[in-house]
Amino acid sequence: MVYINTGAILRAVRLEDYGKNVVVREVPEPAVERNDDVVVKVQAAGVCRTDLHIIGGMMKEATGNPGLPFTLGHENVGTVHARGSGVSGLELGDQVILHPQISCGICLPCRNGDDMHCVHSRSPGLDGTDGGFAEYVKASERSVVKLKKGTDPVEVAPLADAGVTVYHAVRKILPYARPDSYIAVIGLGALGQIAVQLLKNMTNSNIIGIDKSEQKLGMAEKLGANWVFPSGDDGGVKEALKVTGAKGADIVMDFVGENNTPASALSMIGRGGIYSVVGYGGEINLKTLQLVGMELSVLGNLVGTYRDLVDLMSLYYQGKVKIETRTFSLDDASTALSELSRGEIRGRAVLLP
Ligand SMILES: [Zn+2]
Ligand SMILES: [Zn+2]
Repeated sequence: MVYINTGAILRAVRLEDYGKNVVVREVPEPAVERNDDVVVKVQAAGVCRTDLHIIGGMMKEATGNPGLPFTLGHENVGTVHARGSGVSGLELGDQVILHPQISCGICLPCRNGDDMHCVHSRSPGLDGTDGGFAEYVKASERSVVKLKKGTDPVEVAPLADAGVTVYHAVRKILPYARPDSYIAVIGLGALGQIAVQLLKNMTNSNIIGIDKSEQKLGMAEKLGANWVFPSGDDGGVKEALKVTGAKGADIVMDFVGENNTPASALSMIGRGGIYSVVGYGGEINLKTLQLVGMELSVLGNLVGTYRDLVDLMSLYYQGKVKIETRTFSLDDASTALSELSRGEIRGRAVLLP
């Protein structure tokens, strides 16, 4: 066991109380304790809707009732600053993107490649483990993907969670996405925008974009959606049925998952269709007769695998996925979070430590 701690102090955005604004505090630099530890000097960290859910206390139970305070931030990119003695594939200074989960590699889900279902995982910025809204964050060799020299950290940070989650969801529906399929994307924020790009590049299907914001509809159209229309009073159901010739969408990808959206999503799906859910917070009310009679499938999506992140980075380097970003300093973390909660961030907010 090695133990390296320079005793340095760093600045970090801490959640101290649920329901209260986050605060910037000075905390000790993370120490290398395990042989596979990698301490990363953070270059950029994406701000996610899940951060709002954590602050609001909605994630408490789902993340094992973490003790407070801890540092938020689970979309992290940076350079290797220190490493354990067992780390063989990374040099100091290498640029890396962090998979949101530090998985064990030993359990059966890990051996299946399903890092997000690891039974011994830690999730920096999510479950009480300190995250990347800080100058330094600790990861493990297993959880980081090495980037090409000179990669723009701000552009890729949102891919660490938003991107990998969408890629994972898109990969799951691929076998069902035929050239004449209609795929509706509900919610055209950062995740929906990534979805439109991935669907455009990975399928030959017809892509429908639905959102309440005209501006986001315009962006989705530019990114390759074949039809876009506002959600309006009925969540876009009528318009979706019109576009699909009344048969309904073959696949609906829901990046909202709250309020009336699950109900309208289910109303626009055709027979044999798939409801793929990424956004969360609401409820799905579905009669078993409708599920069976229409032979529907409902898919949940949780983050993505390590391999998904590797694939996504290849697509990024091929120029096939890009998301608009706006940068904020660590001190402005609260501003970024409140702008996100008011729907004022067009693509992704990214913190620069
Ligand atoms: Zn997230
Ligand atoms: Zn595991």
